[in-house]
Amino acid sequence: MSIWTEQEQKKFEEITAQLNRWTDSPCQSCDSILTSEDILYSNALGFKNFPKCLSCLSNGLERNKNELKTELLKHIQRRPCLKKAYEISFGKNPDELDSTLDFIEAPSVSSGTPALAANLVWNAGDLGCGDLVLLLRGKLKAMPPGEIIQVTALDPGAPEDIPAWCNMTGNKLVFQQHPNYFIKNKE
Ligand SMILES: [Zn+2]
Repeated sequence: MSIWTEQEQKKFEEITAQLNRWTDSPCQSCDSILTSEDILYSNALGFKNFPKCLSCLSNGLERNKNELKTELLKHIQRRPCLKKAYEISFGKNPDELDSTLDFIEAPSVSSGTPALAANLVWNAGDLGCGDLVLLLRGKLKAMPPGEIIQVTALDPGAPEDIPAWCNMTGNKLVFQQHPNYFIKNKE
């Protein structure tokens, strides 16, 4: 599943640049000092240009901090670019941190023809990793709660990234058939 491609290399270099730029800088919400881990978590959640500490990320999403951290570590493990950045930052593999980590089953979603109309259609092209969730977060933020966005995402990581992101952020993935994803904005 973890294939290292030229695209992953590019994403990895971008994440490394974010780590160099933001580590030891103040959190954009509370001024506490950001760790490398906070930067990677922010990237995974769509805050790559506005990194926050884990406490502020979990407060903003109304999530339990430890639960969110567990999901983030699982997500990082699945994404070659994030995993490599993690290993280099910490000198160890993310799964060595917590022996209780195991993979969450993807939420079951219908794979037939969607019987729903999207309020907004967005073609994300081949955006991936931090860029895809960054822009997706912005689109949802601008939409009323409960509305549905149809996202077309060609990135080969999208079938893992989008369900994981929806799960972490509380937005509901109502239909998935790569490259199309229907996401209901958090109520
Ligand atoms: Zn903070």
